[in-house]
This record gives sequence, C-alpha cells and structure tokens, in this order.
Amino acid sequence: MEHYIVKLDVGGTVYRTTKDTLRESEFLCNLVDGNWSENLSNQKEIFIDRDGFLFRYVLLYLRTGQLDVDKQYWKSLRNEAEFYIISNLATMVNTMIDEEQLKKPVFRLLTQEEFITYSNINVTGFRRGLCDRTAVGPGKEFITSIQCDVTSYNCPREIPVHKESRHCGRACNKAKGDNYVGYSSKETIMYLVSNTE
Ligand SMILES: [Zn+2]
Repeated sequence: MEHYIVKLDVGGTVYRTTKDTLRESEFLCNLVDGNWSENLSNQKEIFIDRDGFLFRYVLLYLRTGQLDVDKQYWKSLRNEAEFYIISNLATMVNTMIDEEQLKKPVFRLLTQEEFITYSNINVTGFRRGLCDRTAVGPGKEFITSIQCDVTSYNCPREIPVHKESRHCGRACNKAKGDNYVGYSSKETIMYLVSNTE
C-alpha cells in the first residue's frame, strides 16, 4: 500500500501524495497508518490543523530532499519540521538560519581611539557622510562618522579602568580635590563601523 495516494487536508489546502513520500516523517506515517482504510473509495482526506502554505515546502522536501523557500518562512518552517518530526529538515533549516546570522554585519560605534586601532586610515578630516563604506581592516567597513557629546566619568586618581563612579574605592574618593568634577562632557567624533567577520 506504500504507493497508494494519500489525501491530506492541511489547514484547508489539500495535498495528494504517497505514504512512501511521507516515510521520513514519523508523525505523518503514524497519522496515515491510523487513518488508513482498506476501502480506498471511502478514503477520506486526513485533516491536519497546521499551516497549509508551509506544508508545500515540507512536502517539497519530503519528495526531493531539496528546499527552495524564502528567508521570511525559515523560522516557521523549522517549527513545522519539528511538528512533523522531520529532524533532517529541522537541521537543514537551522543551518540556513545560522549561516544567515553569520553573514549579518554587526554595527559598532567606536571612539576615535578604538577606530585608529582598527584602521590605518588617517582619521583627521572624516566627517559625516564622507568615505561611506570604506574598508578599514579585515572584515570591517567604515560607514560614517558621527559628531556627538560624550559624557565620561573622571576618576579622581585618573585610573583608566575606573569608567564609572562605582568602580572607584575609598582611595579614589580621598584623592578628590576641591575643583573635582565627577562627569564631564566633550564633543567627540564616533565612528560607525560594520564588522562582517
Ligand atoms: Zn577611581
């Protein structure tokens, strides 16, 4: 009976396939076995309360082992693969999602000092909108520079790792002079860089 036609109504969309095609899905095989009628003329559609559109891709995978599905459906398709218990399909979609994630650039806002360590570009003269998407190092691209006020904490002992008042201890507090200013603000150019590594 492996090659008899199985009719599945998935969320209102009817698909016809064979049990042999469904063999990789434990869920679908059990469902077909449980609903199988020897009298084929009376064989009803088996209703599955899942998304009918996505099942198209599930069935495409079961038939061909291939997947040709738009990015926007990947996460939903992974849920379907898990529901129908098709572990190879779930793994395949997960790999696609992971690889896509790695391709996504990570944007970082760098201070001038940080930017200089990344690049061998002379940074003087960079202004907003200039030098768009210039490579500044392996896998790193300079997007734009932003002029802004950056507020920073001043450790009374000028210890560089004391970036916030909570980093300072008693010795720092004792070292405060009469003219001590806790926070100061200065105009700074920040560099927006994308990291595609
Ligand atoms: Zn301190």
